[in-house]
Amino acid sequence: MKVGFIGTGTMGQPMLANLVKKGFEVVAFDVVPGALDAAVRLGAGRAGSAGEAAANCDLVITMLPSSANVEAAYLGESGIIEKAPAGRLCVDMSTIDPGTSQRVAARLEERGIRFLDAPVSGGVGGATAGTLAIMVGGDAGDLEEARPALAAMGGNIIHVGAVGAGEVAKLCNNLISGSALIAVAEAFRIGEAFGVDPQILTNVIAKSSGGTWVMEHMHPVPGIVDSAASSRQYAPGFMTDLMAKDLALAVNAAREKRVPVAVAAAAQQLYRMASSHGLGREDFSAVYKFLKPSSDDAPV
Ligand code: NAD
Repeated sequence: MKVGFIGTGTMGQPMLANLVKKGFEVVAFDVVPGALDAAVRLGAGRAGSAGEAAANCDLVITMLPSSANVEAAYLGESGIIEKAPAGRLCVDMSTIDPGTSQRVAARLEERGIRFLDAPVSGGVGGATAGTLAIMVGGDAGDLEEARPALAAMGGNIIHVGAVGAGEVAKLCNNLISGSALIAVAEAFRIGEAFGVDPQILTNVIAKSSGGTWVMEHMHPVPGIVDSAASSRQYAPGFMTDLMAKDLALAVNAAREKRVPVAVAAAAQQLYRMASSHGLGREDFSAVYKFLKPSSDDAPV
């Protein structure tokens, strides 16, 4: 099976590398020349546009930052809709708004092009190890066709429902992990302010009701978890700007369905503020740096 891989950034590169390792032929495209060069170094062929990659393969995979990028790659100039033949199966693994997935799928369907949304969880570590969790929305038969390629990149492949449902599951997950990381950062700032050793506090919480996956794997305090971004100057990992985007998607989805969301909305604004203060390209756990206490001279 030949895969057209569009979007060879932080996640796309290790995912593509696993496809190559498992024997898939890959033709890649990225709008940033350096990202495309990296894909070629990993063993992919080079395409001149998203449409060209989609025309010369059996299965299209996209791994792009946001809804606007997905619309551009699929529906824009020299995009997939222009060049892919009827019947082609496309799998968008980006985290985007479920409504955009449904709109793109409907436009492609007019041309007979098939579409699955299949966002992932597990970060760069999971992408490198080929153990990503993949949540899929769309036709079950199409998923079976894409499964061998998805299995080269992920461990748990879960069919959630119709097109857009994979994105809904992803937004729900990131609403929890993004909010939980803020809670962990706030808790450790309080602990430190009272002189409690962060390692001992971690040991206590890990054995208590506050224990959480993000603390165990993405601890925001440097030096506690070796593999966490905080222990390598907050190099992503998962960028603050992407977490702000995912929480915004969750808040928008909640608004659309009239679901009240207080914690997710507050967490989203904190990531946005961290981004405004220069932390947007750092790992989202860098929000801990932003949540430092104000000076002792402050009146309260
Ligand atoms: P990234 O910005 O590192 O990579 C995305 C790549 O897409 C970039 O190289 C960019 O140049 C390219 N691109 C943008 N528009 C394009 C277009 N129209 N055509 C071709 N290429 C285009 O982002 P990433 O960290 O790899 O994340 C990709 C997606 O995966 C995002 O939706 C993100 O939310 C999601 N995700 C990321 C992580 C993570 O840990 N980084 C984890 C899970 C999910």
